[in-house]
Amino acid sequence: MRVLLVEDEPDLGAAIKRALYQSGYIVDWVLSGTEAWEQLENQWTQYTLAIFDWLLPGLSGIELLKRLRGQKRPLPVLMLTAKDSMEDKVTGLDAGADDYLVKPFGMPELLARVRALQRRQPQLQSQQLQVGNLTLDYSTYSVWRIDQAGEQQVIPMTAKEFQLLEYFMRHPNQIITRDQLLDQLWELGSEPLSHVVAAQIRLLRRKLAIPGFEDLIETVYGLGYRFNPTKV
Ligand code: CA
Repeated sequence: MRVLLVEDEPDLGAAIKRALYQSGYIVDWVLSGTEAWEQLENQWTQYTLAIFDWLLPGLSGIELLKRLRGQKRPLPVLMLTAKDSMEDKVTGLDAGADDYLVKPFGMPELLARVRALQRRQPQLQSQQLQVGNLTLDYSTYSVWRIDQAGEQQVIPMTAKEFQLLEYFMRHPNQIITRDQLLDQLWELGSEPLSHVVAAQIRLLRRKLAIPGFEDLIETVYGLGYRFNPTKV
């Protein structure tokens, strides 16, 4: 699951990103409404949920919401705000927010709201990503494929392997560098090293290995990796 977080307060943004990340979400965090719109305008489908602060540099959270809904984009949005008057809440909900959280709030509450939003969206609950005969199921965090006998074969995954495989499946046939993986899937400041990426890739390959077939995740020497769905 990928979440777009738009929050201009550095400490709060970092805390939200960390809390979501630890719960298995991939988070793109931007600090202004303008940057958020650049992400949303053409790439909104890569997100399963967005969190908008109300007051932001550039476009406000409400303006972002109005643009998004004006283009009939059904991305679930959780609004964050220090405003707590009834009038503001109504404005937010009228503009198309799915839920509303008043600052200050605790991370357990934010996570509970995010989970509730997912549950309220039936299309998210059953959301699956399918490439070749490999399927990621977000509602159960499981990965499965149909084997040669036509049987569904479930592949157990850790949260990190699931994130890594999701990233590859969303970028099939593209060369993905280690830096790209570190940037997208590892938390800033956790001092990830490139050998950590290599070790995770090795584990993932082992789980996806089918006797007699080459690796789904190819090494592109000197550049990075490439997910080749034709080998699924
Ligand atoms: Ca703000």
